[in-house]
Amino acid sequence: MGSQPLVHVFLVSFPGQGHVNPLLRLGKRLASRGLLVTFSTPESIGKDMRKASNIGDEPTPVGDGFIRFEFFEDGWAEDEPRRQDLDQYLPQLERVGKELLPKILEKHKAELRPVSCLINNPFIPWVSDVAESLGIPSAMLWVQSCACFSSYYHFYHNLVPFPSEKAMEIDIQLPCTPLLKHDEIPSFLYPTTPYPFLRRAILGQYKNLSKPFCILMDTFQELEPEILNYMSKICPIKPVGPLFKNPKAPNSTVRGDFIKADNCIEWLDSKPPGSVVYISFGSVVYLKQKQINEIANGVLDSGLSFLWVMKPPHKDSGYELLVLPDGFLEKAGDNGRVVQWSPQEQVLAHPSVACFVTHCGWNSSMEALSIGIPVVAFPQWGDQVTDAKYLVDVFKVGIRMCRGEAEDRIIPREEVAECLRQATSGAKAAEMKANALRWKKAAEAAVAEGGSSDRNMQDFVDEVIRRAAV
Ligand code: UDP
Repeated sequence: MGSQPLVHVFLVSFPGQGHVNPLLRLGKRLASRGLLVTFSTPESIGKDMRKASNIGDEPTPVGDGFIRFEFFEDGWAEDEPRRQDLDQYLPQLERVGKELLPKILEKHKAELRPVSCLINNPFIPWVSDVAESLGIPSAMLWVQSCACFSSYYHFYHNLVPFPSEKAMEIDIQLPCTPLLKHDEIPSFLYPTTPYPFLRRAILGQYKNLSKPFCILMDTFQELEPEILNYMSKICPIKPVGPLFKNPKAPNSTVRGDFIKADNCIEWLDSKPPGSVVYISFGSVVYLKQKQINEIANGVLDSGLSFLWVMKPPHKDSGYELLVLPDGFLEKAGDNGRVVQWSPQEQVLAHPSVACFVTHCGWNSSMEALSIGIPVVAFPQWGDQVTDAKYLVDVFKVGIRMCRGEAEDRIIPREEVAECLRQATSGAKAAEMKANALRWKKAAEAAVAEGGSSDRNMQDFVDEVIRRAAV
């Protein structure tokens, strides 16, 4: 690795696909600028990542630097079902992590690879406590939009009225944000959320927000200008997205999938340009069986070709395996493919793909926007409902198929088919595509040499190197 040791940055990720992807992408961006990056997360998913993503033991070159992986045991047996219960798992991770992480960091120091900065993502705010206790600078990567960061911030500090048991259906006015209806704020803030453990997990980060010297965000200045300007005056925010684009190492094959992606690219190659609907609800959302039936029939009725990701549920999640209606695959024939996991970035960038039916997770939203693909928004909960609002009404690249799980409505096949038609042909489709292509250009400019995210990333790297020398 040359004579001068590289500055070493240590990343700790919560073990979820939507957390690992952006933090690993950040790691690759940092490595490509000449840093040694260690990516760390519990072995419980490390074993899946090694298998699915060809992760080896040696550091992998990325641009001018290297990335390596170091998984740690979370203290529970391999098949412990309590990992699916965040109220039990997060305290366990904190207990074990607070003991283990200092030892790992000491080992690196002893081996002359001292760690100069620790970076974590949400749900594991204790990483910045460990950093503080060892005198190591720390940063946090926020993995949602700045609008959602602001919603949680204003809720946590009780700065504006949010829906309460007494006044449920109020509109919410946050600074520099369009007026949000009660079901457009991140749904974990709703008093009746069925996921109070996720609200606790996400708000946990706000307790420690004064510790990281920088809050990196997978968004970009031109995408969320007003709210970024506003929140940057309150917190040390640097937008560095879209993280999945890395002009300094565009061909890096390092990935962090938990499931090996099925090969669907050859099938896409066989389809005409702009003819395929891509359907995926991310790594955690599970729809009701009835809804799956309606989507399946709606897709068939639309007559469009489709690629549909149906990820099987985790064995301890309590979800039933969803099935497709009888005869569905036969009726679809070569017009449709159903897979368990896709190489999503490649799929979205494929010329055959016309639109993306998405649950509006922030990673998927950023990928669609910066690849220039219009969306059909099918949000369920959490930040997805806010992202859907932005994709449809602010970024103007999508149409709404539903408002979220709280709506408690099965979207019938006629509506599904109609949304798909609107998103793929006619004036509305053309307008959304033109807007999406504008965002693609803006995203590329942000990460290109001298662009807003490129400069922010370099400032961050310079600051890490400056602090390392102190
Ligand atoms: N993804 C993928 N293949 C799939 C489905 C999803 O590679 O078949 C990736 C997708 O590109 C994104 C991540 O998984 O980076 C999902 O993150 P997101 O924030 O969209 O949703 P979450 O899974 O956190 O709800």
